[in-house]
Amino acid sequence: MITGPGLLFVVSGPSGAGKDTLVDALRERSPRLHYSVSATTRDPRAGEREGEHYFFLTREDFERRRNAGGFLEWREYNGNLYGTPRDYVIGTLHQGYDLIMKPEVNGALAVKAAFADAVLIFLVPDRLSHLRDRLLARRTETNEEIARRLEIAHEEMKFIPNFDYLVINEQGQSEQAVRDLQAILQAERFRIHRYSDPWLKNVELT
Ligand code: 5GP
Repeated sequence: MITGPGLLFVVSGPSGAGKDTLVDALRERSPRLHYSVSATTRDPRAGEREGEHYFFLTREDFERRRNAGGFLEWREYNGNLYGTPRDYVIGTLHQGYDLIMKPEVNGALAVKAAFADAVLIFLVPDRLSHLRDRLLARRTETNEEIARRLEIAHEEMKFIPNFDYLVINEQGQSEQAVRDLQAILQAERFRIHRYSDPWLKNVELT
């Protein structure tokens, strides 16, 4: 019944807020939701696979693709480049599939500038101190990197008012946060402007 292009959901927020875990859980429960795999110049972490977690590019390849307009948005984050592949996003939405992505905050705002209809969701931990705990627990960054990520996090929090939704990922309550995300996805599909005009005109009010 809801026709037209698919919906674009952008989950953002500081590194360590739980974006990866929550979006993974959401995708498991929403098999029809497509996921936009980003490109990056950072090295793969243990367990990360090419094309599944990221497309891992050299800086040279990344810049070549970027200069050819291959990214919808791109950002330098903590010394590495990250970008959203343009063709995949546009093609998937045109085919009518819903799509989710998880860029950092400036990237999310750039996506909104390109797609006014994108739904921006800001994810935060219940306490900023939990960010540090999460980053320490995953043991993938050096102490220096963690300090830098926390600094960036403080800056990113200032952009919350530019987002459509705020979800709080409470420590130990990630199941609730996944349900909150599901509720947002569900509700967005019922917004009046998502229904095509011809369909609305044909509704019989009896
Ligand atoms: P990580 O190195 O921890 O995987 O990611 C670092 C940051 O880059 C995270 O906040 C993540 O959301 C963000 N990021 C991942 N892919 C993209 C992207 O395509 N564009 C932008 N702008 N940020 C991204």
